[in-house]
Amino acid sequence: MNRSHAFTLLSLIASTLIAGCSDRPEPATLTTSDPSATPPSAITPHVMRYPTDPASWQPMPLEEAMKLIDNRDAWADYPPIHIPPHPAEKYLKDLIICLDPGHGMSDGETDPTYKRGPTGVREDDMNLRVALLLRRLLTDAGATVIMTRDVDALVTHAERKKIAIDANADLFISIHHNAASSPSANYSSVWYHRTVDESEVALDVSRSIAHRLGAHMRTDVGRTSPILSDQLMYNNGFGQLRGLPMPAVLLECSFFSNPAEEQRLRDAGYNLRTAYAIYEGLCEYAYNGRPRVASIQINPPTTNPSSTPNASSTPNTPSPTPNASSPTPQTPSPTPQSPRLVAILDDGLPPWWGRDRSRIPASSVSVSIDGQRIPHTFNGITRTLEADLPALAPDQTHYNIDIRFTNKLRNSVINPNHQLTPSPTPQP
Ligand SMILES: [Zn+2]
Repeated sequence: MNRSHAFTLLSLIASTLIAGCSDRPEPATLTTSDPSATPPSAITPHVMRYPTDPASWQPMPLEEAMKLIDNRDAWADYPPIHIPPHPAEKYLKDLIICLDPGHGMSDGETDPTYKRGPTGVREDDMNLRVALLLRRLLTDAGATVIMTRDVDALVTHAERKKIAIDANADLFISIHHNAASSPSANYSSVWYHRTVDESEVALDVSRSIAHRLGAHMRTDVGRTSPILSDQLMYNNGFGQLRGLPMPAVLLECSFFSNPAEEQRLRDAGYNLRTAYAIYEGLCEYAYNGRPRVASIQINPPTTNPSSTPNASSTPNTPSPTPNASSPTPQTPSPTPQSPRLVAILDDGLPPWWGRDRSRIPASSVSVSIDGQRIPHTFNGITRTLEADLPALAPDQTHYNIDIRFTNKLRNSVINPNHQLTPSPTPQP
């Protein structure tokens, strides 16, 4: 037997052992904290490390890799639990994340079947286990985590919202599991509030988490959209997400109404797969950067001196910004110029290689006043956005300005809405 075959055989033995270990018959109890209560196989690390010493191994030949494709696992076969720290978790450090384990105390309902699986497993409990495990993963990464509950407790939507707002949370993640009349249903979905135009950052968070949930929980990916509007369920969306000022998403990780999934959801190791999926999604969201409007101002209108009655006594007003075009004395305009919006956009990305080039696709930039798009110019190198603003109506004291853009990793601006009061027009 040559080294190649020996290595392949070892790999097969290892994968057989791994498959056996991952099919653990003993689910963890709801509140187990005693490591000795966990089956030894559950805490055995199942890792395969590729040797780096060329003398100690023979890489797998292409033909053997092809044979592996001939004998593929089913999507719903679970690989070993693998929860390494994500290299990009460092980008979570500045974030305040509010975790909201759904329900608690069965929401005070007296119906004994309320939010329970076919054999009575409670959604409250699985939501809480996932949230506690996720809190640990996120705090280990350096994020600040607050929770709307960390025990089985009755907490109203209003109280949950207040906890998130008081903590000045950057993100609100509500953790739930789903139910359907069809026992076969078992897919993962992430819900954003209202419309795609009203929740662009929530879409970014939703996308990252939804794809990870499907992959780690081996749910029925492809059955429907991985992200969905909460207005598909209720006209005003979910009560959990309504009125939150920060990007907020609600996760329906899988279906406890599916008998096999219900049994998996009793298992804290399985809940850890879910928590890790959310953690990994959040790492990827943070890695993609958090674009923002770094500065914004309205420069007062300037008037063309040659076109006004007092032109001869008025010095030419210098251009307020380096990139604004200067008035041309030879072609006077009879009308005053407009107030000019000048904003500096921040792509939210670290000073990586290529930082001196534009990292904001110009096609992603838009400016709206009271919901109406207006023309603008954007310099991707200086990241300067400029637009002439329409005159304010007599009864208006400020502009409602909406600036949208994404960075090259397609994360959206976190602070699109601005209320700005223009400075008084300079008198000649
Ligand atoms: Zn729920």
